[in-house]
Amino acid sequence: MGKAWDRVRALWAELDDLERAAAVLEWDQLVHMPAAGAGARGVQLATLRRLAHERLTGPAMAEALAAATADPDADPVWLRAARRRFDREARVPADLVEARSRAGTRGYMAWLEARASRRFAPFAPALEEVLGLARQYADAIGWEGERYDALLGGHEPGLRTDRLRALFAELTQALPSLLEAIRTRPAPPEAFRRPVPAELQLALGREAVGAIGYDLARGRIDLSVHPFSTSFGPDDCRITTRVDPDDFAVSFFALLHEAGHALYEQGIPASFARGPLGGGASTGVHESQSRLWENGVGRSAAFWEWFAPQLAARVPAFSDLTPELAWRAANRVQPGPIRVLADEVTYNLHIALRFELEVALVRGDLPVQELPAAWDAGMERLLGLRPRDHLEGVLQDIHWSDGSFGYFPSYTLGNLLAAMWLEAAAAALGDLEADWRRGAFAPLLGFLRRSIHARGAGPTPEELAETVAGRPIHAAPFLAYLRRKYAAVYGL
Ligand code: ZN
Repeated sequence: MGKAWDRVRALWAELDDLERAAAVLEWDQLVHMPAAGAGARGVQLATLRRLAHERLTGPAMAEALAAATADPDADPVWLRAARRRFDREARVPADLVEARSRAGTRGYMAWLEARASRRFAPFAPALEEVLGLARQYADAIGWEGERYDALLGGHEPGLRTDRLRALFAELTQALPSLLEAIRTRPAPPEAFRRPVPAELQLALGREAVGAIGYDLARGRIDLSVHPFSTSFGPDDCRITTRVDPDDFAVSFFALLHEAGHALYEQGIPASFARGPLGGGASTGVHESQSRLWENGVGRSAAFWEWFAPQLAARVPAFSDLTPELAWRAANRVQPGPIRVLADEVTYNLHIALRFELEVALVRGDLPVQELPAAWDAGMERLLGLRPRDHLEGVLQDIHWSDGSFGYFPSYTLGNLLAAMWLEAAAAALGDLEADWRRGAFAPLLGFLRRSIHARGAGPTPEELAETVAGRPIHAAPFLAYLRRKYAAVYGL
């Protein structure tokens, strides 16, 4: 009794150790490593990843999982999460994993070359290759109605392409008219674009993420080119940011975003550590945490009623900053060609375009050569603008270069789920904004801890939506949130 359950947990613990060790090496690569270390680091990471893959998909794990299924002591939620990963990865032959990894590196190099010349042609053959391998990968995993489902499943367990298609249809129908209304009004001033010393920016950012609950005794903040978060276990969840000395918003909102990810990881029960439940429920659910804190809280009027007076008192450049000015500046809407610079209204239109195009690519409905033209036409249709060149068009994102198809929808799911969580939290706790106005974020964090963090990777995104918000994933709360906010910011 209990032997098989002990055995499978011991095996998984070592798998987790290998993966967290690789994550430490990756963190170091992006934060501290001298460029010359890249060659050796690549080899070290490849070794750890190979060992982890063998540990996950080898006969020992297969037998241990099978035996544990019959062990009455085993936790069925644990086993389901473990099976989900095992079943996906064990179906993919090792040489296909290897081929994808090599083609991904070539794709990334070709993408860099194409960006340097602002031409799509140098990227096309490499994209063709990673796309072909992504199809093979989907076929190895298995799918029924839509090949894209298999790729999506790697990020959003249980979600299907047709569900996403319906969600995006709602967004692309509703957002353009809101955007149109906003465009008739004058834009708020860019109040955050003032010189603030990097040290002071970091100190203030540190205080803000501490106030929302990020425990720096179990985390740390560093600088990197692209902000990110990573976790080596519930007691070591790190974030990074980048600082623009002339724009306070860049680092500040990046810190709130990454701290949102770290709050999730810090909230996962210690008893889940080194097991399949010891992470977020999905990429989109993770993104729902970062976007909730960055946008739902950090761009609210209540937040700036609390924080603007502190900025005004401590930063000479912000001595005239009022809560109203800061809040309006935090919610400027500016349609543009670049996704990562997009505001909350236009962001999901960028994702809708990528979703539409990658589904067509994976299906074979859109030949790679026709992708740039389809991109430009889609931008015109959804956002009413055309990129000046491919650098600010089809070549802007890194994701497709190494064959990461099926990732983009998680960003939009994050936005939709964040609005659902806020609605549920308000229903449970009452007036959240009254708390935020006095810098009290513990009630909201407590709600997220109890309803989402405490369950780790156990539930699927759809199950989480059902239990937390009492409904499947839907767009209405997000659209209502946007309409309310922008009616106030722009006086619509
Ligand atoms: Zn994020």
